[in-house]
Amino acid sequence: MDNRNEKMESIVSLAKRRGFIYRGSEIYGGLSGTWDYGPLGVTLKRNITNLWWKMFVEERDDMYGVDAAILMNQRVWQASGHVNTFTDPLVECSECKSRFRADHLEGDTCLNCGKKDCFSEPKQFNMMFKTNVGPVQDESSVSYLRPETAQGIFTNYKNIVDSFYPDLPFGIAQMGKAFRNEISPRDFIFRSREFEQMEIEYFVKPDAWGESFEHWRKAVWQWCEALGLPKDSIHELEVPEADRAHYSKRTIDFEFDFPIGREELLGLAYRTDFDLNNIQREAGKSMEYTVKGSNEKFVPHVIEPSFGVERAVMAVLSSAYSEDEVNGETRTYLKLPENIAPVRFAVSPLVRNKQELAEKAREVYKMLKSKYGRVMWDDNGNIGKRYRRQDEIGTPNCVVIDFQTLEDGTVTVRDRDTTEQKRVDPASI
Ligand code: ATP
Repeated sequence: MDNRNEKMESIVSLAKRRGFIYRGSEIYGGLSGTWDYGPLGVTLKRNITNLWWKMFVEERDDMYGVDAAILMNQRVWQASGHVNTFTDPLVECSECKSRFRADHLEGDTCLNCGKKDCFSEPKQFNMMFKTNVGPVQDESSVSYLRPETAQGIFTNYKNIVDSFYPDLPFGIAQMGKAFRNEISPRDFIFRSREFEQMEIEYFVKPDAWGESFEHWRKAVWQWCEALGLPKDSIHELEVPEADRAHYSKRTIDFEFDFPIGREELLGLAYRTDFDLNNIQREAGKSMEYTVKGSNEKFVPHVIEPSFGVERAVMAVLSSAYSEDEVNGETRTYLKLPENIAPVRFAVSPLVRNKQELAEKAREVYKMLKSKYGRVMWDDNGNIGKRYRRQDEIGTPNCVVIDFQTLEDGTVTVRDRDTTEQKRVDPASI
């Protein structure tokens, strides 16, 4: 195993051991491509999605949030092109019948049984999960679990214009689950079959798309900075025309140096008027926007920054994962930024069997909990063990109530990264 895979394995194992992320349905042997978030993982994930919503919806005055249904009328996916073209090339090994995504194979040897020159001609495999809505199972009741959140935005574009009549440019944002029946889910949560997206469709005048594209390109960099991702691990890839999705006139993939290699973290695309025109044609409703106080009418064009939650979580975990040496022992810690760490402070009495210490510690705990929310009580094991445990889950500071606290009211605050301790008045935290 090379170093990169070793690091990935260590992260996966820490994530399970410490209650961040478990394999989906593990107790029944798992379900490939699905993952369950434990108490710390769900908080980390929510901190990330809340940060996104705050940055891109609440703090701006040109954005509108929506939360559309996951199940949509099948005509949505016919009009969008997903029924016909949302496919990946699938090949099968003639020996062991394992199936692979043709464009992910590096040679002509089966990764499962090792047979050479064994692959069938690629077949196009549609990645949407198909289902039926209601008790009658025929073509008219077909629906799909949405493979992207974007279409729930486009189908509400007219509703937002009718209710709010915003000036252009303006955006609609949505976050939520998306489902893709990936041929080979892999690399922890990186390629899952059920995952979350955070997407923005930003509606612009057709000739002003370049400006907005640049605006969102900068905004993406700000987002990566807010997640604490090192700038030099992020790379823009200008996607050549032949590799772009059918709807895109320009795409930049933002790639990240994951432990598994350099891979797509998120995408920024110029989708033109492709989607609104499709809806206009297929639903027979005008998607034209009338500029206020004029007769100028047109179908707006769209810039789409599309963020994957799982890939953000994985980038954050992999850039935070650190090892160093403390008192001659290897220490593992997560260097998570304070704003997204699942536990902001851990509070402990130095020893648990001294009642005065425990009482005072409870007071400090309550005070910090009402101020910060994400505060953990931790009096298990000795203090060294508590520090190690909190380091492993990325808690930026541990607050300890000791005998000096009973004399002068001060507590120690230990810094996760430097392991240094300071004495402070708890009211100043
Ligand atoms: P890839 O080329 O890696 O399959 P994509 O180009 O198909 O990804 P998009 O359709 O652009 O991905 O989706 C937007 C974002 O959604 C991606 O940048 C990624 O963050 C996330 N995403 C897409 N597919 C998955 C998946 N199977 N698991 C987790 N996240 C995903």
